[in-house]
Amino acid sequence: MCSYSEDEYLMISGIQHFEFCPRQWALIHIEQQWAENILTVEGNIMHEKAHDRDLTETRGDLIISRGMPVFSKSLGVTGECDVVEFHRDEKGVPLYGREGSYIAVPVEYKKGKPKEGDEDRLQLVCQAMCLEEMLCCTIDYGYLYYGEPKKRTKVIVDDALRSKVKTDIKQMHQYFRRKHTPDVRSSKKCSSCSVKDICMPKRKKYKSVENYIESRLGDIG
Ligand code: SF4
Repeated sequence: MCSYSEDEYLMISGIQHFEFCPRQWALIHIEQQWAENILTVEGNIMHEKAHDRDLTETRGDLIISRGMPVFSKSLGVTGECDVVEFHRDEKGVPLYGREGSYIAVPVEYKKGKPKEGDEDRLQLVCQAMCLEEMLCCTIDYGYLYYGEPKKRTKVIVDDALRSKVKTDIKQMHQYFRRKHTPDVRSSKKCSSCSVKDICMPKRKKYKSVENYIESRLGDIG
């Protein structure tokens, strides 16, 4: 089995950008360009609430862990789970310092409505695969919590999503190693893309990324 060293680890959250558009992921994660639009600002507020931590809380047979760091050597990724619920269950695995056995259920918080694409499901499944590797367990499902309509959607961690996670992450590593940013692929997604003005500066009459940033700073100042 392939194993990555820590300095090769990519951010788990990047898989949602990569699935949305590989160029968007590369601009954010390879070139570190980031234009906050209203969608990402709202998303950050949702995450801050989920990460508003007193880290671990116990409610009867349920343990709730917030902002839990996770990683996978085999995938070469790292990140944080918004919430991991540990449900006491005889089919589960032991947890250090706790009596009994538990099954792990990751929960990822998202602003807005459930999306048509798989990007949120892939991020959640990638987190589940990290937890499986770290805890030597099997995770059958998790939840995506959406700000609209403020409820959870169950996500089954199936073979198709696992396989897509592996394929996407492998491609991300290949791009990252080559420091390659894919070309523009215009689609209807571009209208809600958080890095649209950086991706296509000429359309906004900016000659370069630097030119765009200078212009935006001018707007603020
Ligand atoms: S504007 Fe379109 S092509 Fe450019 S990064 Fe965003 S989604 Fe991708």
